[in-house]
Amino acid sequence: MSPRPLAGKVVIATHNAGKLAEMRDLLEPYGLQLVSAAELGLPEPAEDGMMFAENAAIKAMAAAKASGLPAIADDSGLAVDALDGAPGLFTADWAGHPRDWMHAMTRVKHELAIRDIEMAGTKAHFVSALVVAWPDGQTLLAEGRCHGSLTWPPRGEAGFGYDPVFVPEGETRTFSELSREEKHGICEENGRLSGLSHRAKAFIRLIEKAGLKKGDA
Ligand code: IMP
Repeated sequence: MSPRPLAGKVVIATHNAGKLAEMRDLLEPYGLQLVSAAELGLPEPAEDGMMFAENAAIKAMAAAKASGLPAIADDSGLAVDALDGAPGLFTADWAGHPRDWMHAMTRVKHELAIRDIEMAGTKAHFVSALVVAWPDGQTLLAEGRCHGSLTWPPRGEAGFGYDPVFVPEGETRTFSELSREEKHGICEENGRLSGLSHRAKAFIRLIEKAGLKKGDA
């Protein structure tokens, strides 16, 4: 079946400023008119799925139904091998309320320390599940992962969330020490798309599945 085209006005279903900035960077070249769920005053639905893809679908479908427009949502998180994949679905929750990312990163260090594991060098990966939902209930899923290791203390100023303690494979710098372009930019070489971050990798899958073309309106 050919992919359903994604065109025109599209809601970015997130209230997370860091994610919104990255999703705008990623979607802007495709000629879409982007508006965020926060700009439309849409409520944040409860994320009670058991998988990243389920939570992304909950957010995208809620925004599509409430706005009458196609909506795209990301559900993502950090999985630390030595913590059996935690914080996983609870990645944002580890930052408490109001969100305190230093607290979240310190909790990872603490959970590793009680297992006698050094944070620096321990393996982890980020996951991003992107779901596009249309108001009629149709959905499209694309997922990406970025493997790497953790470091301590946190380094760098850019990015958001756990970026200052995550070093992607093949890099010595943390996500926070990379530019936006280096972290989630998408490069094209000989017709092949590549990107570093979990969100960039998920977007590449989405570009292919949704048949997005640069400059399309
Ligand atoms: P949720 O998808 O809204 O449940 O939140 C996922 C959480 O994972 C975010 O609030 C961030 O803390 C973290 N996260 C997801 N992607 C990234 C990233 O690219 N860098 C750093 N942290 C991230």
